[in-house]
Amino acid sequence: MDLTPSPDDHRFRQRARDWLGANAPRHRAPAGGAGARQAATAWLARCHAAGWSGLAWPRDWGGQGLSADRLLIWYEEYARTGAPSPLDCTFVGLHHAGPTLIALGSEAQKAFHLPRILQGQSIWCQGFSEPGAGSDLASLRTSGRVEGDILVVNGQKIWSSYAEDADYQELLIRTEPGSARHRGLSWVICDMRAPGITVRPIANMAGETHFAEVFYDDVRIPLSNVVGGLHNGWATAMTTLGFERKTAAMALQLDLSVRVERLIAEAGAAPGSALAETLADLRAEAAGLRAMTWRSVLREGGTPFDGSLVRLTFAELAQRVHRLAAELLGPESLLQGPVMTDYFESYSETIAGGTAEIQRNIIAERILGLPREGRA
Ligand SMILES: Cc1cc2nc3c(=O)[nH]c(=O)nc-3n(C[C@H](O)[C@H](O)[C@H](O)COP(=O)(O)OP(=O)(O)OC[C@H]3O[C@@H](n4cnc5c(N)ncnc54)[C@H](O)[C@@H]3O)c2cc1C
Repeated sequence: MDLTPSPDDHRFRQRARDWLGANAPRHRAPAGGAGARQAATAWLARCHAAGWSGLAWPRDWGGQGLSADRLLIWYEEYARTGAPSPLDCTFVGLHHAGPTLIALGSEAQKAFHLPRILQGQSIWCQGFSEPGAGSDLASLRTSGRVEGDILVVNGQKIWSSYAEDADYQELLIRTEPGSARHRGLSWVICDMRAPGITVRPIANMAGETHFAEVFYDDVRIPLSNVVGGLHNGWATAMTTLGFERKTAAMALQLDLSVRVERLIAEAGAAPGSALAETLADLRAEAAGLRAMTWRSVLREGGTPFDGSLVRLTFAELAQRVHRLAAELLGPESLLQGPVMTDYFESYSETIAGGTAEIQRNIIAERILGLPREGRA
């Protein structure tokens, strides 16, 4: 694979670098609450006004229609500048709800929702996981009963990131009575202000409450909010997860190299010391991760499941990098908000978007061709 940048790539990189250097906020945004939403939407609106939002969205829907390699360049510059994490409350709308609507939504759904997402006017969350249906998503039980042109929804979701801030939710429910597993599901647009919805925040171990349980008690959702066909929600959800795993991963993976370089600069390790060796290993692994990311995004010579390899490599490396950052600060790290927050939050990397065990199952079965689980 030839990764030599063209003169056009250089120009694009410089343009991204200049703009981010002049515009990216200098201070870390508040971790939660109205301040976090305000900071995230203001940053998105600023990007949008300058033509830097919806980078992978088609031009017809207000995006920039950038190719995958340009997107990688953008995220490298984004990480280098220390711009706000793309994993804020605008993430679901921009990176998987919006793209799902573009791929499978009706014209009316696209016309209403896409401009609002792109300009930071509406925030989305995801309602897929349930107690007892996380890794095994197909066992979900939240139901939607068809009554005329309405779905009446009852049940519970959990771990819904930014549900408290959200205006809309991509909600996966069982709509065909008596159906099992992947059949009979529907992906619907749920208005988070609808009567019958209760959002109960959950604190993570960093003390932050950006995810929540969501309860549905006879919530009425118009059938016109179904995306990708009634009872065809599994296919729509797989489209969503495909988008989610791609862009989220890309931005975070590229950010990790920058974190490692920062750690090396701050550690002041004596040449030849054990610490210098550890840092050199991390730098080499981060360089490997970058190469894996480029290869998997540009899809040259790989398999469609390479994303799991990259995701797992990233998740486990991120935990080691953040742990070392906390250890180097010693007891002082307990007082250093962002270092400890990043350390605690890194534990979620081997859970969110598919746990490390599930990624290993995918690698074993789909890439290495080992026997499928339970059928050895
Ligand atoms: C930070 C964060 C944000 C999240 N945001 C959202 C969100 O916005 N919306 C949403 O719907 N969900 C969200 N999730 C939920 C996430 O998708 C689930 O936590 C994840 O899929 C795991 O499901 P679970 O928690 O039910 O664990 P379980 O599936 O119950 O797994 C428990 C343990 O068993 C292991 N295990 C399960 N099955 C197997 C198997 N077949 N083989 C080997 N080991 C197995 C798992 O690896 C894990 O260690 C989020 C999670 C986190 C951490």
